[in-house]
Amino acid sequence: MEKSTGRKTRQLEVVWHEVAGDNSHPTADQIYRRVRRHIPNISLGTVYRNLQKLVAEGKLQVLILGRTQHFDPLVDSHQHFICQTCGRVYDILVGKDEEILPASLPQGGFTVTSHRLAFFGECKSCSG
Ligand SMILES: [Zn+2]
Ligand SMILES: [Zn+2]
Repeated sequence: MEKSTGRKTRQLEVVWHEVAGDNSHPTADQIYRRVRRHIPNISLGTVYRNLQKLVAEGKLQVLILGRTQHFDPLVDSHQHFICQTCGRVYDILVGKDEEILPASLPQGGFTVTSHRLAFFGECKSCSG
């Protein structure tokens, strides 16, 4: 029991260590590859479960692009710029008072609790 609790804590710590402060919006697969350098026998499922745990704890947010989940340790409200050439995801910080709101929803009766906006184009390093 003790042993398994310790191992689980270590797994969670390593997963968190690999994703904390990372603004590249890695996928579960990318994080898995990094975590494996520290815990070679860990499974992708375990890494994924630990990521979900961090999301539930409010330490990470999930960004869904197409069918892929990206993990983001920046949990404050922000927007994203996605480079269509290299696929990199950049954080765009928009001031609270200059928040971009959906102009108008097609019909009444909708309550907006949050919104997500993404900008697409070419990033600085790709446009040379
Ligand atoms: Zn780019
Ligand atoms: Zn972000």
